[in-house]
Amino acid sequence: MGVPHMRDDPLMGRLTVITTGGTISTSTGADGVRRPTHSGAQLTSSFDVDVIDLMALDSSQLTPADWDRIRAAMWAAIDDDAEGVVVLHGTDTMEESALWLDLTYAGNVPVVLTGAMRSADAPDADGPANLRDALAVAASPDARDLGVLVSFAGRGVQPLGMRKVATDDLSGFVGKLVGTVDAGVRLTRTKTRPYLGDVSAAVAPRVDIVAAYLGSDAVALDACIAAGARAVVLEALGSGNAGAAVVDGVRRHCRDGVTVAVSTRVPGGRVGASYGPGHDLVEAGAVMVPRLAPPQARVLLMAALAAQLPVAEVIDRWG
Ligand code: ASP
Repeated sequence: MGVPHMRDDPLMGRLTVITTGGTISTSTGADGVRRPTHSGAQLTSSFDVDVIDLMALDSSQLTPADWDRIRAAMWAAIDDDAEGVVVLHGTDTMEESALWLDLTYAGNVPVVLTGAMRSADAPDADGPANLRDALAVAASPDARDLGVLVSFAGRGVQPLGMRKVATDDLSGFVGKLVGTVDAGVRLTRTKTRPYLGDVSAAVAPRVDIVAAYLGSDAVALDACIAAGARAVVLEALGSGNAGAAVVDGVRRHCRDGVTVAVSTRVPGGRVGASYGPGHDLVEAGAVMVPRLAPPQARVLLMAALAAQLPVAEVIDRWG
């Protein structure tokens, strides 16, 4: 299959594009700043698709409540017989939204997120090709029952474990490759589906991320708990270490029933209690998150707590 559902092609199945903003929709103002300006109709003018213009935001402005809005739009499209849904989203927080949607979506209609690294008004904009590819994935029978996918720069990527690693490079993300989109869509169907429940973000508790660094203390940790966090992801050092003052803070809060999950600031790093401080964190009551980076560890905790599932078991399976 080549370019799907171009205006002059017979429509094989209905696809819906949901806009939320991001670079794929930006134009550059006189001040040189990129802001979302392109409507869904403008972005999809070459394709015969339905459009839900949901938001026009830089993805740094999204909140968990927006995940519910995206899910409601997805389900409205599916209830309206869409055979595939594409969500246009900024890349800054795509790894968070993609994972939340995958954790809370059990449908069989493909849901595919995409975006762009270059502004829609750039002469060499990558958004149109990314949109075309995402539509091709969403229309593919092989994408059915895979849940949520990210299609970017010709690659299909599984949400769980994906991470933005570039601000300029067109590939944008690293993650488990589940297919390619070139002359056609090729999906391996080895994607995980970490569905935790059909839960609303409104019932997810506050979960914060606290960074450990040379000389860090427990001030940030204490402030997050005081602000109402039920769980904290510790962005630890190396393979899961932190200074003694942080470990002491973790011990105090775990005793009070707060969940502390340990991830790492090392890109692609693996976490485990293999050094003294990491061992102390586990003894203090923290749970190691072996693979997920802090932003996705936070999303996993939010969904697990919202679904009232045992956090340690969820992390053991998906973290
Ligand atoms: N700041 C933009 C956003 O996340 C970046 C992008 O879309 O690539 O909305």
